[in-house]
Amino acid sequence: MLKRKSKNNTYGGFSMSDKMTTFRKALHDAVISKSDGEIWETAVMEWDITDYYKAESETCVCGQQHIKHCFILKNRQTDKYLNPIGSDCIKKFGREDLNKNLLLIEDLIKLKTAMEEGKYITLSSDYFTARLIQFFARCKVIDEDQAKFLLEMFRRQRMATERQQRYINCMIMKIRKYMEDHSFNDYAAFI
Ligand SMILES: [Zn+2]
Repeated sequence: MLKRKSKNNTYGGFSMSDKMTTFRKALHDAVISKSDGEIWETAVMEWDITDYYKAESETCVCGQQHIKHCFILKNRQTDKYLNPIGSDCIKKFGREDLNKNLLLIEDLIKLKTAMEEGKYITLSSDYFTARLIQFFARCKVIDEDQAKFLLEMFRRQRMATERQQRYINCMIMKIRKYMEDHSFNDYAAFI
């Protein structure tokens, strides 16, 4: 039996107005069976995003077929994995921190894809976000001052001077090297 919390009228974390579809039940059961927490609300708190890969066609833990963007979640208590899980299912956890991490990974995917496609990477919103620049400071690819400078230049509308542009390019090279030398599993340790 799935446990129901009558207080806020949810059923396994999903609104009662939602139909309890097969996919939702499968997600619920997969999460509960691999968590310490016995109810949805506590079980979902135990998970972190630990890896990502792109696939031709995979099946999510909920049974949804043909997912291309595959995430791996690891449980802090049980060391078990949800693999693969799609972003739609991760969002159903209802965790703001996890949703933020998902956005950051999506930024990383976008940048890495552009690099792999041989695009010329500039400090524009086509490739960067403030969130992504802060991430590169957190994993020490650039230092705090460099991150501050990049954020300033990223937000500024005016053109960079030649000297500033050289400095920006130098940092983008460092970022590119880090992206090439590391995998999503490495990035996830710093999100
Ligand atoms: Zn799913």
